[in-house]
Amino acid sequence: MDTITHTMLGAALFSRTGLAGGLRGAVRRNGSPRLVDWTFWAALFFGAFPDVASLGIHLIPRLLLDGYGMWRDIPPYIFTLYRCTHSLVIIAVCLLFVRLLFRPLFIPMLAWPFHVITDVFTHGPGRFQTPILYPVSDFKYAGVNWWEHPEITTTAWAVTVAFWMAILGLRYWNQISWKRELEKTQRMIRS
Ligand SMILES: [Zn+2]
Repeated sequence: MDTITHTMLGAALFSRTGLAGGLRGAVRRNGSPRLVDWTFWAALFFGAFPDVASLGIHLIPRLLLDGYGMWRDIPPYIFTLYRCTHSLVIIAVCLLFVRLLFRPLFIPMLAWPFHVITDVFTHGPGRFQTPILYPVSDFKYAGVNWWEHPEITTTAWAVTVAFWMAILGLRYWNQISWKRELEKTQRMIRS
């Protein structure tokens, strides 16, 4: 999948503003809304990380300088980085460290393995096939190339929009019914 879709899906699923916040969303312990939800930015970051920390190192400067021959002459170390950032083995080790050392980052960081799992099915045979078991095994699943199937990106965007509408709608409804309950109890106490 393309990096922007990965980033959007990562934030939708693994931030408190998104699914990980449940019906309450990004709130403090006392229930008041957080103005800045750091988990949103962390999940965005980890959604993009596998591509930015590998291909991005090569492509971004080229794009800014001349934009020509971007996909040619990619140095071998970029492919090594690509294998590392797209390996579930390496991700598992990193997640274990984060779980032990800084637990609040664990859920937003799941945007990283989610990126890799969606890549497995949306990258066909070739140099960008996803090396999920690197460096333990060379196994690669033959998915279909997302750039040859625009319906993959359209579906992902439609699902993301539907998801945001559903979760924001549910939270709004939850808040209204909670307020009604509170008013009812207050009236009962007064009478
Ligand atoms: Zn990727």
